Amino acid sequence: TRALQSSLDDARRKADIDHLTGLPNRRAFDGVLKMELEAAREAGEPLCVAFVDVDHFKKVNDTHGHEAGDRVLKAVAQTLAKISGDKCHVARHGGEEFVALIRGKSIDEAWKILDGARLAMAERRLVNRATDMPFGKITFSGGIADVFAHADHREALKAADEALYAAKASGRDRIEFAGVKQAPAP
Ligand code: GH3
Ligand code: MG
Ligand code: MG
Repeated sequence: TRALQSSLDDARRKADIDHLTGLPNRRAFDGVLKMELEAAREAGEPLCVAFVDVDHFKKVNDTHGHEAGDRVLKAVAQTLAKISGDKCHVARHGGEEFVALIRGKSIDEAWKILDGARLAMAERRLVNRATDMPFGKITFSGGIADVFAHADHREALKAADEALYAAKASGRDRIEFAGVKQAPAP
């Protein structure tokens, strides 16, 4: 029974980990989000959520191949993992998109943390070790939202996603704040 339990625990842990990057996957993130929402409410702490998406990633695959693209994704994950800790969770949301959850920081502070990771990524110079060809500058864009500034966490996620699209539209390699909802016309 003990061996079975242990292999069950093992399987559960593996089900929460993204195989390529070693980061928690979307399923794990959904669980963490629930816990952090509760913890933030209880402690009266702010909670911010951000979506991050690699810029022009399709071009990396097209130029260097899918396997090389996978290695680039690992490098992005590695850079993002550096900001994760007790109150900062980074997960692979799917494809070349990541999600971060930051508790106990104002949105401005959370933005600075994420922007630091963005800058660190933009400063890296990755080389395709299979061909020695440089990948060129690999960047990502992001959108960040204050969870408790929205009606519920779903709205906050949506707002962060919209901010990500705004970051793409305004030139990429930047983190945008979720827009403040416009008041209805009088
Ligand atoms: P944008 O700056 O607008 O985000 O452009 P993009 O090229 O990054 O976006 P697009 O959505 O057109 O392409 C994303 C690509 O990411 C397409 C898909 O094949 C690739 N991709 C998704 N998951 C993986 C993966 O696990 N490995 C590799 N190598 N590629 C992946
Ligand atoms: Mg994408
Ligand atoms: Mg992309």
